[in-house]
Amino acid sequence: MHLGTEGFQEHARQALKDEPLQNALHLLTNEFVPRRVAAMQALGDPEALRTQARAVKEQAVAQLDTYLEQFADNLDKLGAHVHWAHDDAEARDIITSIAQQAEAKVIVKGKSMAAEEIHLNPHLEELGYEVLETDLGEYIIQLAEETPSHIIAPAIHKTRQQIASLLHDKLGDPYTEELTDMTQIARRALRQQFLRADVGITGVNFAIADTGSIVLVTNEGNGRLSSTLPRVHIALMGMEKIIPRLDDLPVMLKVLTNSATGQKISSYVTMITGPRRAHDLDGPEELHVVVMDNGRSNILGSENREALYCLRCGACLNVCPIYQNIGGHAYGWVYPGPIGAVLTPLFTGLDTAKHLPRASTLCGACREACPVKINIPHMLLNLRRQSVSRGGAPAGEAPLFSLWAWVMRHPGLYRLGLKLARLGQMPFARRGWLGKLPPPFHSWTKSRDFKAVAPQSFRDRWQTTLQYEQPSRNGAGGGHHE
Ligand code: SF4
Repeated sequence: MHLGTEGFQEHARQALKDEPLQNALHLLTNEFVPRRVAAMQALGDPEALRTQARAVKEQAVAQLDTYLEQFADNLDKLGAHVHWAHDDAEARDIITSIAQQAEAKVIVKGKSMAAEEIHLNPHLEELGYEVLETDLGEYIIQLAEETPSHIIAPAIHKTRQQIASLLHDKLGDPYTEELTDMTQIARRALRQQFLRADVGITGVNFAIADTGSIVLVTNEGNGRLSSTLPRVHIALMGMEKIIPRLDDLPVMLKVLTNSATGQKISSYVTMITGPRRAHDLDGPEELHVVVMDNGRSNILGSENREALYCLRCGACLNVCPIYQNIGGHAYGWVYPGPIGAVLTPLFTGLDTAKHLPRASTLCGACREACPVKINIPHMLLNLRRQSVSRGGAPAGEAPLFSLWAWVMRHPGLYRLGLKLARLGQMPFARRGWLGKLPPPFHSWTKSRDFKAVAPQSFRDRWQTTLQYEQPSRNGAGGGHHE
């Protein structure tokens, strides 16, 4: 179960005290971030690629209805079944009825954030299906009875020792911290399950309108096994996963894999164009593609439309100073990190998720890392503004800003305020910084210093010194002139 978004502040506090989590999160700064930076630089002109990738998503989202229709028509011609799910309940019902018709007992699953979004596993398990995650990270999470904490590395919050104990306790294999041995243990357990499964469920990384193909990007081959070995393959996708043309795929793959894992290309890129044909050696007898809205139409019509460009690469999580410190579970729902702080309020409502858009320093690192240049800080500000207009600002903030605005309109008062602040800060100021402030400002200085009010204001400095240092317009002050 997810922790829920309302208790974000408390969850974040707990996460900061969680030593194993803090150790596990070092992987982000030590490995994920430098690997992505090096990989993107090696692309030659990453800016041009990002611009191109963004243009593809802009076009796809701008004409979503047209491309979805084209995609569905092509799937139909290929002999696949297309299902439209308005919301999460409908998506679950569609998948359940396909599983019932297939008389399934065992279901294998590839990694899918869309499936997390609709809480598919608990639903199917409640109905008596044996559901097995086949992505290694997801499998670890399933054994631990937890939820993923990262979009592409679901078990990143776990240390190697924790995973070793888990495999030993749950699977009964001898305890080992050797990565290869641990992987072999999971591999042995999972391989048998693929052969037992009646239905395979996967997500979709890209859905190509002009061919009706779906594309899966994985590093373990589990997506290919989940979609090929069982009799029935169900692919669940958010409707924004569409791209117009097959020709768009190379650039999208390039930016996705380099941003996600720093790889030129991931180990497996599987392109599925319809179910098994007469001359095919393998593949499912039935292919069902479930296209899910679940709130996306509302986002499409909103000022935060570009949230739909997200490729779920996870790069914005890795560079975010907040995510780097609290991990993913504290965010309380399926999508963590900066893009989660946007998507969660959009999907679940701003009233319960109002803390998330505030969980950002607005440093802009997420926007710089994003392969499709999504302006996350701008959307966070949109959501903060909406939250404030609904009365979601913390108590005391409104009168404080009214007071500030009033003072700013009265220069005399502003100068008096500065003088008082200089006097008031004297017991706390050390070398130009305030390291510890009393209530109600103490939260500011709990984890960072605050700049002390300067002994002389800019206006005073301007009048006494600076204006005389200005170079004159006719060049008397030196410098380079024509
Ligand atoms: S917002 Fe951008 S960086 Fe973050 S997961 Fe989506 S595509 Fe990746």
